[in-house]
Amino acid sequence: MSDNPPIEFEFPSLRRWEAGAAPYIHVKESGKPGPTVMVTALTHGNEVSGAVVVDALLAAGLAPRHGTLIFSFNNIDAYHSFDARTPFKSRMVDEDFNRVWGRLDQPPTTTEMKRALIVKPFVERADLLLDLHSMHDDCVPLMLAGPLDKGVALARRVGTPVDIIRDAGHAAGMRMRDYGGFGDPKSPKNALLIETGQHWRASSVAVAKDVTARFLAESGVVDAADLPAGWRQSTPAQQRVVEVTHAVATKRGNYQSVRPFEGQEVIDKAGTVLGHDDGEPVTTPYDKCVLVMPSSNRPLRAGVTVVRLGRLA
Ligand SMILES: [Zn+2]
Repeated sequence: MSDNPPIEFEFPSLRRWEAGAAPYIHVKESGKPGPTVMVTALTHGNEVSGAVVVDALLAAGLAPRHGTLIFSFNNIDAYHSFDARTPFKSRMVDEDFNRVWGRLDQPPTTTEMKRALIVKPFVERADLLLDLHSMHDDCVPLMLAGPLDKGVALARRVGTPVDIIRDAGHAAGMRMRDYGGFGDPKSPKNALLIETGQHWRASSVAVAKDVTARFLAESGVVDAADLPAGWRQSTPAQQRVVEVTHAVATKRGNYQSVRPFEGQEVIDKAGTVLGHDDGEPVTTPYDKCVLVMPSSNRPLRAGVTVVRLGRLA
């Protein structure tokens, strides 16, 4: 019996969006002054909630009132490689599209580097970027605001989800959301990355719709009334910011969590055992430690981050 999680919504057929400003990239100009705003889906090919949203907005013919709106299905080849028997494999073709952004000056050797070079001029045009992701495990939605104050401020203006994560990205390579002006504190450019929940939960689509509607309205390129009815959810009473201080990677892929975690648990005491890596205890380094995106229920490869640890800001 398969222990793959259930797929709760239908995957969109995206071949109709191949022809655009570049393959699977669509640019809509208002002809009026305003920001260039980009919404991207499928940076990871199996993270489909964002693709449902971009597909729906393209199908609805959403056009900007001011500035320019760009939509992209980033790792479309990975999406098209989806096989329900091995659903996690379609995250990428050769490598992680979201780790190549620091080495695009090098000759492209992988499907993802080649695709990133096609997407790059559009990312460089964008003043504001929303990158739609989802999670392997059943975790609560998180807004990854990057390391800078401006990212946290934008996440607060969007107003949802509850948890804003301030993080420096991955040692393994630069993310798209940190590329160029997005990662420069002096640049007005700004980017957000939403993790909507588990990849194939219907609730992840609801989160992707809500966040995208709020982001586009906040950007000023469209009016809130231009967006599909019913996408906005209620606004949480409060958001909280968690600053990531540690990323715990498994040495050899032999990590066992002491129990299932769903993420954003606050562990009261320093020294609490979270799990064992190769038999060595992994403990909380300080009191009131927040567990960010714990992976407690899957086979792991060596070097994979099993949990990030953070402080409430
Ligand atoms: Zn992702």
